[in-house]
Amino acid sequence: MNAVRRFCARLVEELQIPGDCDLDGLVQHIARVTGRELTARPAPLGPRVSGLTLATDTHGLILYQRHTTVWHQTGIVLHELGHLACRHESSPEAMVEAARLLAQVTDPAQMAQHFSAGVHARHHGYHKRAELEAEEFAVQVTARLPLLAVAGSSQAVDRLAPSLEHRRPSGAP
Ligand SMILES: [Zn+2]
Repeated sequence: MNAVRRFCARLVEELQIPGDCDLDGLVQHIARVTGRELTARPAPLGPRVSGLTLATDTHGLILYQRHTTVWHQTGIVLHELGHLACRHESSPEAMVEAARLLAQVTDPAQMAQHFSAGVHARHHGYHKRAELEAEEFAVQVTARLPLLAVAGSSQAVDRLAPSLEHRRPSGAP
């Protein structure tokens, strides 16, 4: 067992995630554990980033790619929860994507209230330790939570929050 797997196994153990959690329940559980109010929403993310987390000390907003399968969206949310649970620092790629996304938002104040320097992005290539840990967290949590593997998780994603669509400028892709 390598160091990343060991680290995540210990973390997942410490989190004491109830075995009957669906994705929604897991988001709320991580919210309690990390002491933040958490929401997850679909967003028009760029081609290089499929998930993004904007976090302050008290709030976290997980954005996942709107234009992909529900199964992929579930994986993205799990990965982002991994960053939060591991308490990772933000990456430069994430800051760039957050800035790009914020520039498209018609009501920046609404989104800016969630925004701080604590930003993570899921990007191509899991070469960094933090990316490996977030991926491994997603794998281990999925193995523990049977509800994530069934159709119920797709309903969870749909239920998490309304789309950001209404905040985008009309005509934007
Ligand atoms: Zn990541």
